Amino acid sequence: MKTIKVLNDILNKNKAWSLDMNENNSSLLEENGKGQAPQVLWIGCADSRVPPGLITESKPGDIFVHRNIANVVAESDESLNSVLEYALFYLKVKLVVVCGHYDCGGVKAALSNDTFSPYINKWITPIQKELKELEKANPKHEELVEAHTKNQLNKLSKHHIVKKALMENPELEMVALIYDPASGKLKKLQ
Ligand SMILES: [Zn+2]
Repeated sequence: MKTIKVLNDILNKNKAWSLDMNENNSSLLEENGKGQAPQVLWIGCADSRVPPGLITESKPGDIFVHRNIANVVAESDESLNSVLEYALFYLKVKLVVVCGHYDCGGVKAALSNDTFSPYINKWITPIQKELKELEKANPKHEELVEAHTKNQLNKLSKHHIVKKALMENPELEMVALIYDPASGKLKKLQ
C-alpha cells in the first residue's frame, strides 16, 4: 500500500539520520536529551515548503515552533496562546519570528471568492477582512502576503501575553520575515 511506503520512507530516513547524528554529532543528541533552551519562537505557515529548521539550517533545540494555515496570529487561538506563554515565560526566548511566504495558499484562499470547508472558511475569513482595504488597489500576491504578515506581527505586538512578557523582558524582539519557496530565500520585512 502507498501509505506504508510513505511511512517506511520516513522511518528509514530517520534511521539513517539518527545513525549519522550518533556518529558525528553525539554531543548535540546528549544535550537534546537533557532538555531544550531555544532562543527563537517561530510562528509560521503550515505549508510543507517552509520548514523553519531546514531553511535556516538550524539544529534540533534551536527553534520553538508554532505553525498554522497562513501564519495567523489570533488571540482566540488557544494553541498559539499556550505556545506563547510557554516560549515567553518558561523558555524565555529572545526573538519571536512571524514568517509568511509567497505562494501562500491560505492567503490566496482568503482572497478568492470560493467557499471552502467550514473550519478553513472560519480560519481564513479574518485574513480577508484585514486585507480588504489593500485589495481594492489590486496588489500583487507578494504584496498581499507581505501586508498579511505585517498584520500578524502587529497583532502579536498587541497580544496580551506578549505585552505581559515585554514588561518582564523589554529586550524581547519581534520580527516579520518572508520566505520565497521559489528561491529558498528569507528576507526581513521593514
Ligand atoms: Zn502558507
